[in-house]
Amino acid sequence: MSLNILIVDDSAVMRKIIIKALNESGYGDSTIIEASDGIEGLKAFNPNKTDLVLADWNMPNMNGLEFVKKIREIKTAKKIVIIMITTEGSAGKMEEAMNSGVDNYIPKPFTAVQLQQKLKKYFS
Ligand SMILES: [Mg+2]
Repeated sequence: MSLNILIVDDSAVMRKIIIKALNESGYGDSTIIEASDGIEGLKAFNPNKTDLVLADWNMPNMNGLEFVKKIREIKTAKKIVIIMITTEGSAGKMEEAMNSGVDNYIPKPFTAVQLQQKLKKYFS
């Protein structure tokens, strides 16, 4: 499956892990853009092109939650799937993320299988 994917995480190692998991999940043909915080993520985000956003929560400058809210404010943006991949695994945090426009939630650490199962719901 070939998607336009934006990965926003302040950890370069984590971005590599996510890309590896995407490759193992059958999304290896995708165009992947990396950003290291919400501000970079907003710059890299293309409302007409981006299919999927994988965002961390805790990041400097602009965190994942603020970033997601900004994206959801863009009314011209097509229906974009936003999945948060984060160490913030509590039910309260998860609910806060969902209320802010996140479609789905993956707690770190995660496996390629977990990612694949989540993506399958939106892209098949
Ligand atoms: Mg982080």
